[in-house]
Amino acid sequence: MLKNEDDLSWLARKADALRTEDSLETRKEDERIRARVDSLLFSLKVEGVLGSLEDRTMYTKRLPPGCVGCLDGEGSNLYVTGKCTRDCFFCFNTKPRTDETVVHGIKIAEPEEAAAIVERFGLTSIGISGGEPLLYPERVVRILRSLRSLKRPLRIDLYTNGDLASDERLEELKSAGLDSLRFNGVAREFDLEPVFRALRVFPETTVEIPVVPKRMDELKEMVLALDRGGVPFLNIHELFACRENDARVAGRGYAGKEGAQSETLQWKPVAEGEAAALELLLFSLRNAKTLSTYYCSCRTQELIGRRGLERRLSDPRP
Ligand code: SF4
Repeated sequence: MLKNEDDLSWLARKADALRTEDSLETRKEDERIRARVDSLLFSLKVEGVLGSLEDRTMYTKRLPPGCVGCLDGEGSNLYVTGKCTRDCFFCFNTKPRTDETVVHGIKIAEPEEAAAIVERFGLTSIGISGGEPLLYPERVVRILRSLRSLKRPLRIDLYTNGDLASDERLEELKSAGLDSLRFNGVAREFDLEPVFRALRVFPETTVEIPVVPKRMDELKEMVLALDRGGVPFLNIHELFACRENDARVAGRGYAGKEGAQSETLQWKPVAEGEAAALELLLFSLRNAKTLSTYYCSCRTQELIGRRGLERRLSDPRP
């Protein structure tokens, strides 16, 4: 038991020394990652990557059509449901999962209400997402028909893990006016079978994934397979932690990057995430013949989020 007269100075010195050692290790690791990011950015630049290095918005050949309006701040998300067929460790959706439909941040009761919101905010690009939206195909088809009743051009992509993307469903989505699908190939453990089936119906089929640093070999294999199979687009994101996934992200051995908390969005990229995404982008730049890879970073999404928020706040209606 400790007494008042006990001299704890050596304990304090030891603890302080340990703390110094720890922070030194962390600093060394941060410096190593920064040097690696700088070296990857240099290679990408000299080898001709397109876009903005500063904003970390880079692509190898061309941007997917749905990303153009989004980058201009004219895109938004149409969240069909929080329910899903998967339970990915990186999933950032609110838990417990609820079945609600939200358009541009506004909850709706009927799918047909989507069109008026899209019209009111002058949106030109919509990403239908979830959860897994194809758990409710009838709702998705009603949303598509409602959006297609608008008398102006609108780009519509649907995000899916592919579990429920049967041939029949794909044809139904096409007839209802969907432009393309974006498959989360990591959610399906790199099983690309639904991607290649969708490509027969949707020529702009895209794969969109978080770059999980420890799966780099599989990710590179996936780039080659998509390129061989004629898939035109791969969108990659930095892995990030947020309130909904941080325990599981940390459980896989990924720590949040110090000082990287977003001001607008409630997330934090993981320390190795950017270097991994840049490595995959460079691999694609060097090896893919027709596949175009686009790095939509946390910094990019921060910019998009800010533009979207400004747009949303410019209209005082709920
Ligand atoms: S498939 Fe998508 S929505 Fe479903 S758990 Fe994985 S990341 Fe979340």
